[in-house]
Amino acid sequence: LVDGGAAGIHAFLHVNTEEALAVAAEVDGIRAAGGAEAEALHVLAGVPIAVKDLIVTVGQPTTAGSKILEGWYSPYDATVIKKLRAAKMPILGKTNLDEFAMGSSTEHSAYGPTRNPWDLDRIPGGSGGGSAAAVAAFEAPLALGTDTGGSIRQPGAVTGTVGMKPTYGAVSRYGAIAMASSLDQIGPVSRTVLDSALLQEVIGGHDPFDSTSLTDPFDTLVAAARTGNITGMKIGIIKELHGEGYQAGVENRFNESLELLKGAGAEIVEVSCPNFKYALGAYYLIMPSEVSSNLAKFDGVRYGLRVLPEDGPMTIERVMAATRAAGFGDEVKRRIILGTYALSAGYYDAYYGSAQKVRTLIQRDFDAAFAQADVLISPTAPTTAFKLGEKLDDPLAMYLNDVATIPANMAGIPGLSLPGGLADEDGLPVGIQLLAPAHEDARLYRVGAVLE
Ligand code: GLN
Repeated sequence: LVDGGAAGIHAFLHVNTEEALAVAAEVDGIRAAGGAEAEALHVLAGVPIAVKDLIVTVGQPTTAGSKILEGWYSPYDATVIKKLRAAKMPILGKTNLDEFAMGSSTEHSAYGPTRNPWDLDRIPGGSGGGSAAAVAAFEAPLALGTDTGGSIRQPGAVTGTVGMKPTYGAVSRYGAIAMASSLDQIGPVSRTVLDSALLQEVIGGHDPFDSTSLTDPFDTLVAAARTGNITGMKIGIIKELHGEGYQAGVENRFNESLELLKGAGAEIVEVSCPNFKYALGAYYLIMPSEVSSNLAKFDGVRYGLRVLPEDGPMTIERVMAATRAAGFGDEVKRRIILGTYALSAGYYDAYYGSAQKVRTLIQRDFDAAFAQADVLISPTAPTTAFKLGEKLDDPLAMYLNDVATIPANMAGIPGLSLPGGLADEDGLPVGIQLLAPAHEDARLYRVGAVLE
């Protein structure tokens, strides 16, 4: 594996060569022996996969990109990891991310940034920049990501890879370190739409260990990706998610993809989602509120790092404060403070309560839009990959990168980002996003496979 470490792409935080080679050798052995066992192998058996370091794995460290979990090993496997192991997919290692998945550039990792394989001076997106960069750089054919506000799709867009956020509840989050539980979802990163469909079929399905896991079965995703027919489908352009504020080269590739869909027999319509302008604001109340609660468990007692106060009484509160002060980075602290404020007595209704109302309005916008179109379309991100350091000191500019991806998380619907070609100005990848109603993930694979 040629990753270049900190001086190169730095997609991986941990490489798991020995175990991965052992699984590959086992699959080779089964294939060579032939017979029923070979027949029963999954089509992805022996295909290696990289895993975002927010998902817990036995035998490999899980850091969440944070110093607070440095050196920590999970005693159990996430459900998705169990499923990868059952399919005999070698797990190549753990990929870099913004600390606890908070960010859009992977620059908030406590272990140094990941760089975009297309241009090492640029960011690979975030928070799952490591998974996307690993796939884009041909270090891994497949990867797992997590998407709370776009962390699978936006890295996919800026690295020219495919990223899928399944319907909320389609893939178990048991063993994914929670960021904002009402928004988090695990999903595939790949180089083709069909590959993502194959991977979602491996990792998806009901799991009693995740209380939000859906019980009803999904249409076959792989079959949908192989259909190759979108004649008569209605594709809705979301008026609010392109045009002003979007880079010209992004807009050009977006318009081209509309022509491609028309050429393939789809009907293009325009829909309006007037409440999307409040989505980012509501997200930055709901997400930090849930973050402040989910990250309370990193108390210096239960997991990882423990820092003792230098002087003064050794109380539990002071150990906790010293550990969290040393273990968390600035962006994580910013969000914990925002969330704690939004949830505090007297402010709860004004902030968290109002944001939840906005969430309902966004869901209603989607309902109205899906009454007019089978699938919605937009650019995945307003710009191509920006330069490292460009937005690091300006959190608001960083947050704005997620305007187009956040609405899907707020409504729990599936979203797929796929490569739409290179922007004229800078020759960098542009991502096209497709959205479908909850539980209609198959539709995205069907349209995506025609468009890529
Ligand atoms: N970039 C967004 C944020 O910083 C999304 C993060 C994510 O999806 N994990 O919150």
